Amino acid sequence: MPELPEVEGLVRFLGERSRGRTITGADVGNIAALKTFDPPLTALVGATVRGWSRHGKWLDLATFTFDAPENSVDPHLLVHLSRGGWLRWYDRVPTTTVRPRLGGSARGAVIALRVRFDDGSGFDLTEAGTQKRLAVHVVRDPADVPQVASLGPEPLDPAFTADVLAGLLATKNQQVKGLLRDQGAIAGIGNAYSDEILHVARFSPFKLTKSFTPDDVAALHRAITQTLTGAVAASSGKPAQELKDAKRAGMRVHGRTGQACPECGDVVREVSFADRSLQYCATCQTGGQPLADRRLSRLLK
Ligand SMILES: [Zn+2]
Repeated sequence: MPELPEVEGLVRFLGERSRGRTITGADVGNIAALKTFDPPLTALVGATVRGWSRHGKWLDLATFTFDAPENSVDPHLLVHLSRGGWLRWYDRVPTTTVRPRLGGSARGAVIALRVRFDDGSGFDLTEAGTQKRLAVHVVRDPADVPQVASLGPEPLDPAFTADVLAGLLATKNQQVKGLLRDQGAIAGIGNAYSDEILHVARFSPFKLTKSFTPDDVAALHRAITQTLTGAVAASSGKPAQELKDAKRAGMRVHGRTGQACPECGDVVREVSFADRSLQYCATCQTGGQPLADRRLSRLLK
């Protein structure tokens, strides 16, 4: 799943390619992906791209219309790529017609939405995997999307200080990994970057938030800033099709079960859950003690 740094990379890439272009087509490929009906998707056609921005892991395409009637509202296209979603950019978008379907073939990637611009360029939002969860909203204001309105602070915003983080940690006693992934607490960090941040800060993913001392808070805050800033810099200037590989290549422990920890050389371990897994280094993060893997212990019973 693309997280803050990849979505930021997409924002910069799409801004350079499409700012000032007029939208000439918006064709839905998967009916289930379109979550709104007012304004209609057709409201985008004829509108011009004002710019792209990001809210957490959400992409926001803002538009305006030349000579728009008074009181008309410029629509925004809000996109959440979810786990299997991605964006495919075309300098020449295919002329084939995208037909609306519900869902899609079991495993293959399907086109959720195709957008065309007046210079012949455009993009597809595509989604792979059996669960189709990519979401497209056409709204008058980004805050009209409830999941955007309820996002927590942006972690790279200067207003996100160690004090703000301390407040979040103290709100509820929970595992720090869960807090970092909670979009309502902090926007834009998911399963991958929470593993990376905790490895940099040298904390167990299961460390309880109320156990954080002021020094621990400062270390976690530094790790968040450092990890995300580095990943945004690595994503920046890369074309859309290279962002996923860049993310994978930059990971220290996430997705690297069985490989050597880049800090200490110990083996990277994992804990599996029903629908995901986390990776960590026992030497760096848990005092050398491997964490219980419930799936593994169930198998051993
Ligand atoms: Zn290590």
